[in-house]
Amino acid sequence: MITMDHLGTTRTHDLLASEDAHVAHNYHPLDVVVASGAGATLTDTEGVEYLDFLAAYSAANFGHGHPALLAAARAQLDRVTLTSRAFHHDQLGPFAEGLARLVGKDMVLPMNTGAEAVESGIKVARKWGYQVKGVPAGRATIIVAGGNFHGRTTTIISFSDDPEAHDDFGPYTPGFVTVPYGDLDAMRAAITSDVVAVLIEPIQGEAGVRIPPPGYLPGVRALTREHNVLLIADEIQSGLGRTGATLACEHEGVVADVYLLGKALGGGIVPVSAVVADADILGVLRPGQHGSTFGGNPLACAVGHAVVELLATGEYQERATRLGARMRERLDAMLGHGVVAVRSRGLWAGVDIDPAIGTGREVSEALARRRVLVKDTHGSTIRLAPPIVITPAQLDHGMDQLEQVLAELG
Ligand SMILES: *Cc1c(COP(=O)(O)O)cnc(C)c1O
Repeated sequence: MITMDHLGTTRTHDLLASEDAHVAHNYHPLDVVVASGAGATLTDTEGVEYLDFLAAYSAANFGHGHPALLAAARAQLDRVTLTSRAFHHDQLGPFAEGLARLVGKDMVLPMNTGAEAVESGIKVARKWGYQVKGVPAGRATIIVAGGNFHGRTTTIISFSDDPEAHDDFGPYTPGFVTVPYGDLDAMRAAITSDVVAVLIEPIQGEAGVRIPPPGYLPGVRALTREHNVLLIADEIQSGLGRTGATLACEHEGVVADVYLLGKALGGGIVPVSAVVADADILGVLRPGQHGSTFGGNPLACAVGHAVVELLATGEYQERATRLGARMRERLDAMLGHGVVAVRSRGLWAGVDIDPAIGTGREVSEALARRRVLVKDTHGSTIRLAPPIVITPAQLDHGMDQLEQVLAELG
């Protein structure tokens, strides 16, 4: 349904109609048809400019068309883009070395999408469980948290408690136990000698930027260490600058055994994901046991390496911290004025809208009419994750528009 007033031209209507007819309806996008982007701005087919306050769910942390990332991609396009891992190429080693150093681990397993990194982490943890921990064959168990989002494969949705993501996609993969997020006692009670890993988001993004209580992650770290269980941190959305740190785990002083990275690792240009861990864990994989035709391809590595170089300066983490404090201040002022709760870390916020004034979707649509793009999650929440390159003036403008929308609806 076309709800936006400015979508006047035939071409825009035709584009929306052809999507509606020929693209599977697995998303419910806002009626904005993007034609180009630069920094924190997206421009539609009518030439109307929007502020991007979603950044492709943090995949575009460095904004649209970042010059250093585009330059790396363009240079590599002219050299070679795909070899498969049947041969070595000159981009893989430098990318892996840089990423491993950034994260503080030895080794990188390069994949493409986030879901593949999660699947790969699960496989590595199971193999580690059998070969290193000595779990009896077929019994490896992984503890996950309620409200999780780790991707869309059949195995991953097997342990999702979101009915939309889960229902009617069975039979489901066994070997996962779910405990409430933030409940250390429940986690302790779930640990048996068959448990090989805890797989957790340090901050739950899809669930609405849910931040666990202070001390929870260090508690999980202590428990997993005590019981020889791997701690796998899914930092696919929380990682790479978004929260004001390279990894969200850093805020709690926690070092995981395995990091899953994706989204922003591809610089908003190509899908790049990775499992990052020390050699005593990733070393369980031998030739032929896992792989991906596109994983670690030259173009992905060139872009991923450029992303690592941006993050190595610390400039983006610092900027996310600084702008995040500014955003938080504005959001706190909206509490009681259409907003019932705010959760944020760095330049990443979950804002619960007062159901009395409308749904998250209604707020998102009203914001889009004011040329600010956000996405609702779980009914009453909107998630704010502007590109870290957003200017203070753009950030303030977005916050002004949100304030106006809340006043309008309230
Ligand atoms: C987005 C996301 C994934 C899945 O990534 P895809 O690239 O969409 O497969 C996994 N884990 C978390 C925490 C995510 O936010």
